[in-house]
Amino acid sequence: MSTRKIDDQQQSCKNCGVRDGLNFTVSDSLWAKVIPTRLLNRVVCLACFDKFAARRGVDYHRHLSALYFAGCQARFEFRVVRRAKAVMR
Ligand SMILES: [Zn+2]
Repeated sequence: MSTRKIDDQQQSCKNCGVRDGLNFTVSDSLWAKVIPTRLLNRVVCLACFDKFAARRGVDYHRHLSALYFAGCQARFEFRVVRRAKAVMR
């Protein structure tokens, strides 16, 4: 399976401009389904990916295969715990 890994913490999201250091992995086919054409080959943060997925009605919660934080001082890998919908407070 081919995957897309957004792993350059030095790059900001080309949609919102944020540099959050969070890297995630999804398949190329899912990326193409969620991300607008103008951003297909650009860096997009997880928050924007989530918004695009919601707008397009794409339920990707089973397909996020890795989540990392890559900072200047430390790197962490997170365990992905699946939840269908976020709880808004
Ligand atoms: Zn963004």
